[in-house]
Amino acid sequence: MIEERFDAIVVGAGMAGNAAAFTLANRGLKVLQIERGEYAGSKNVQGAILYADMLEKMIPNFREDAPLERHLVEQRFWMMDERAHTGLHYRSDDFNEERPNRYTIIRAQFDRWFSSKVQEAGAIVLCETTVKELIKDAYGRVIGVLTDRDGGEVHADVVVLAEGVNGLLGTKADLREIPKPENVALAVKEMHFLPRETIESRFNLKGDEGTVIEAAGTISRGMAGMGFIYANKESISVGIGCLVSDFQKTGETPYDLLERFKRHPSVAPLLEGSEVKEYAGHLIPEGGYNAVPKLYGDGWVVVGDAAQLNNFVHREGSNLAMTSGRLAAEAIFQVKSRKDPMTAQNLSLYKAMLDNSFVMKDLKKYKDMPGLLHIQSQNFFLTYPQLVSKAMQNFVRVDGTPKVEKEKVTLKSFVAARSWAGLFGDAIKFARAWR
Ligand code: FAD
Repeated sequence: MIEERFDAIVVGAGMAGNAAAFTLANRGLKVLQIERGEYAGSKNVQGAILYADMLEKMIPNFREDAPLERHLVEQRFWMMDERAHTGLHYRSDDFNEERPNRYTIIRAQFDRWFSSKVQEAGAIVLCETTVKELIKDAYGRVIGVLTDRDGGEVHADVVVLAEGVNGLLGTKADLREIPKPENVALAVKEMHFLPRETIESRFNLKGDEGTVIEAAGTISRGMAGMGFIYANKESISVGIGCLVSDFQKTGETPYDLLERFKRHPSVAPLLEGSEVKEYAGHLIPEGGYNAVPKLYGDGWVVVGDAAQLNNFVHREGSNLAMTSGRLAAEAIFQVKSRKDPMTAQNLSLYKAMLDNSFVMKDLKKYKDMPGLLHIQSQNFFLTYPQLVSKAMQNFVRVDGTPKVEKEKVTLKSFVAARSWAGLFGDAIKFARAWR
């Protein structure tokens, strides 16, 4: 194992770890990054949408050689019942811009590219190595890591925990609690391969234009969860995820949900004739602001999914991971530049920077949303989607019924399902959680 001492050790080579390691090495610090996978990205699962702005802040010319799939010109939101979907669809030629704002990516390829930039910046990247535990001194300060390699102790001034949602190292070292089942979703995803032209004609795309569909409703069978369909160049990512606590309660399985989602009449034609080459499952932190653990301590900081930094309302995770990794690195650099020790007090700068960024501001805005959707999942993911679908069908079907009567039928169906008090209560609770 490596004998020398490092300014920083970064555990994990996902979005957060790569952002932290890149920024630290780019600032001239001596960095060791440790990844248990065969290579960066080999263990990582994502839809995946990349948000350009957050990467651009570190690597402004990333578009020149990063493995990007399609730039998004369109986003669709579907509220589904068993046979239909009601959609909100935004498409704009403005997104065919010189520096597109969002891309689809394939994480295994993207993380490998990002890792090459980390190495070019000067960090040592050690793959196929698992950090087994954090090393603390007699005062409880983190001073390094113990790996599964022979003589596997390595020391550093600070350890950046970018180990993903499970966060086993942090919990083992009593830095935070194991995430609760109601605060994490289990998502499964498949990659469906089709010729490029088929994808472009099915999704109404040309060139490298891309589209993504986010779907909610009866597909999650009353559990809090969502599905997604993302168009890559020659593949389509299809997945669905729900809260672990809901899976435990209902006995449903993610695999069955995905199979049903793929068979839905709105989805099946998009996937017809495709070849499935990959199947993956992964957790997503969804507890929001109230589930964020302590973010720093003596000799350590935690970033990305390990810190539960995920905005499930907007389905953003990788951008929060990259931003937290970058800000943690900037904070460490500032402490180091002042020649100050990596104490909790000095590293609290990271938290202050994160609080001041979109990351904590967005999580704070939606702090009541996880609780509401969890408690009211039957209403928001089953009852309302069914009611909305019936109302839409009633609205568009022309059958000689006077419109006034149609409206009465729709209104009656809502009141029968939820009562006036229930409808007002749901609207107020939702509006409060959204503000
Ligand atoms: P990870 O990417 O999970 O990386 C953690 C790394 O740490 C891994 O490489 C792992 O191997 C390594 N590691 C763990 N423990 C150890 C150890 N002990 N020793 C050494 N290495 C270790 N976000 C978006 O922005 N857009 C999307 O479209 C999107 N879609 C998603 C779809 C799915 C199905 C899922 C599951 C997530 C999605 N997300 C999306 C969320 C996004 O993937 C995460 O927020 C992001 O990957 C978090 O990055 P991270 O670096 O914190 O963790």
